[in-house]
Amino acid sequence: MSTTIAEPASPSLTNAGFAEIAEALRRYDSFAVLSHVRPDGDALGSQIALGLALRQLGKKVKVWNEEGLLEKFSFFPGGEIVTLPPNDPEDFDVVVALDTATRPRLGTPLQAIGKSKLWINIDHHPSNPRYGDLVHIDPTAPATGQILFELLQSQDLPLDEMIAENLFAAISTDTGSFQYPNTTARTFEIAADILRCGINVGRLSQQLYENYPRRRIELLRVLLDRMRFDAEGKVASFSLPLATANELGVIPEDNEGLIDHLRAIQGVIIAIFFEELADGKIRVSMRSKDERADVCEICLSFKGGGHKLAAGARVPGTLEEVAEKVIAAAVRSVEVMKS
Ligand code: 5GP
Ligand code: MN
Repeated sequence: MSTTIAEPASPSLTNAGFAEIAEALRRYDSFAVLSHVRPDGDALGSQIALGLALRQLGKKVKVWNEEGLLEKFSFFPGGEIVTLPPNDPEDFDVVVALDTATRPRLGTPLQAIGKSKLWINIDHHPSNPRYGDLVHIDPTAPATGQILFELLQSQDLPLDEMIAENLFAAISTDTGSFQYPNTTARTFEIAADILRCGINVGRLSQQLYENYPRRRIELLRVLLDRMRFDAEGKVASFSLPLATANELGVIPEDNEGLIDHLRAIQGVIIAIFFEELADGKIRVSMRSKDERADVCEICLSFKGGGHKLAAGARVPGTLEEVAEKVIAAAVRSVEVMKS
């Protein structure tokens, strides 16, 4: 007798439930909470929020980032919990990767992880290959901070004003202040819940968006001078040579968000920022205003990744060579849209 058994859905595509993740957070004792290199507000806000929640549960927690707590996010409450990884590896029960599309993007903290029993991977990047044991990837969430809020709230985990403020900063920065199309009704509901935790949204937004160092604006002046348009103005780009960055005395965190000035131009569909790095690679940052011009797909072809409307890659070569190749791919992408 033979029976045909339908193939089960690939378990790798099934998200671990919040209850299962919460159970692991409660059961184990020591945790490393990690996120990606060149951290943004979502990466650091999420790391700090989960780190604080675990501390309140009485856990031993290390919150490591390759760059530590960035100067511009130094006002995140409880931010001191973020440190650089140590030189000698440490053992943990659980390693939690937040907001990090691939394991190597965790950077130097990876080398500081000795033995571990369980890896938890919580993220919203659709390109995440689902590394780890308990994996929860929700590409419909505009920020990892939103997934964490739902995890903490639904599972009765610690969620005080400090944690809430970090989650608000994470969601606000990853949605471009609630403007990007990934912002949903749920995002506003969560923001409302967070405000009810007592945070001061005016003060927080001023710290996030109206407190730039002057050198960032000097950098913008130089970049606008180097602005270039292709595909009849549908592709806009600018590039930053390492020598110029050194002359201006800018630090890597200064340029996050400058690409938005390109995206904001009428008629532009794809915006690209090229940054020459000290390691000889070029950091490519891309934004799209139209899902049909999928910049994640373009970046995947250069071994990077991200989301449809915001993606990046690190590409070997000179600034000119990399710009040539990437702009050509962007031009093809916007031209295909016509058909
Ligand atoms: P940004 O341009 O702000 O650095 O990154 C935009 C998005 O692309 C982020 O969601 C980020 O995770 C992703 N991203 C940026 N650079 C890389 C990269 O080198 N590799 C991968 N896989 N994703 C990247
Ligand atoms: Mn994110």
